[in-house]
Amino acid sequence: MSQIYFDHSATTPLDPRVVEAMLPFYGANFGNPSSLHWTGQQSKQAIDEGRQQLADLFHASPDEIVFTASGTESDNMVLIGVATQYKPQDCHIITSSFEHPAVLETCKYLQKLGYEISYLPVTPEGIVDPESLKQALRPNTRLVSVMAANNVVGTLQPIAELAKITKAQGALFHTDAVQAVGKIPLHINTLPVDLLSLSAHKLHGPKGIGALYIRKGVKIAPLVHGGGQERGIRSATENVAGIVGLGKAAAIAGAEMSAEASRLVKLRDRIIAEVQNQIPNAYLIGHPYKRLPGHICLGFAGQEGEAIHLMLALNEEGIAISTGSACSAHNAGQPSYILMAMGMDAVRARGSLRITLGRFNTDFEVDSFLEILPRLAANLNTITSREFAAVS
Ligand code: PLP
Repeated sequence: MSQIYFDHSATTPLDPRVVEAMLPFYGANFGNPSSLHWTGQQSKQAIDEGRQQLADLFHASPDEIVFTASGTESDNMVLIGVATQYKPQDCHIITSSFEHPAVLETCKYLQKLGYEISYLPVTPEGIVDPESLKQALRPNTRLVSVMAANNVVGTLQPIAELAKITKAQGALFHTDAVQAVGKIPLHINTLPVDLLSLSAHKLHGPKGIGALYIRKGVKIAPLVHGGGQERGIRSATENVAGIVGLGKAAAIAGAEMSAEASRLVKLRDRIIAEVQNQIPNAYLIGHPYKRLPGHICLGFAGQEGEAIHLMLALNEEGIAISTGSACSAHNAGQPSYILMAMGMDAVRARGSLRITLGRFNTDFEVDSFLEILPRLAANLNTITSREFAAVS
């Protein structure tokens, strides 16, 4: 049985070029970058190069990049690092109601500490309306955090406009760009964002390494205290191999982005058109084209509760897709808060399939998928709930 991986929003396979760049740092080049001797300095140079490669992807300056351990850590750093510079009553934060838990759970934590958080609504097409931001801003709003692309529906958010509105009020604008980095151009010189989170494993880089772009002059309080690495903003001996891998992944993504995005858009739109053609009750969730190049989210009218069975049946055929974000594997079968935020009722919000394509997917794999999915969808009611019990 062939294996097809269509779950790139959960994580991506490492690009072999990234592995090759990282390998020496698991062998001969083992030095601590803070050491002044030859092996320490080799590591330091490698970090400098990784930082430059990542900065180049954003047209940013290397001293605006701080390496972290994950997208989750970057998001925590921003929210907590901005909020704790103020007393709770002096700091109102705005975010959207369909952010990743890395933002939403951190907001809940801040609420417990007394900070006020406003959650912007989302349209049925999965977009945050800039008008709603204008209404939510207050004189004490210090930070607005809206993701660049949603992890479940794949919709792109109007971050340039949201950032402009935020800046006019004098607050900071952060975007969780974990799903967008390396897939769509994000040039910081023309995009007025102050802070941007990313994670290497979503762009064919390694797991356990992320970064935060911090615009020059923007201050955040550190979350991790210690030896003063990363200009004191994020102490800890650096993950040198991870940084090298993230830098290489960024360089590859930057060089190949435009050709790769066109290729993925063609594959994506072929799947959407064919599925709607062959499966009468299938519908696309989220905006038809304001979406990530390789991202599809499908619902099945009247059979929403069966989506998980369909995902498991596809898995039996060697095809890996998901019913939501990886985090929702822990609460499989529950309505998705992201779909509910888009105005879906609890029944419809239980059933979606997320198909996310990436660098190594081929036309041939899409052909196989389009042959297998309609056949399995036609048999939906005959699939037993045995598999469902296994994951719930
Ligand atoms: N933000 C978004 C939008 C994500 O999709 C994810 C991961 O799925 C994260 C943050 C967390 O990133 P990490 O897995 O590096 O902690």
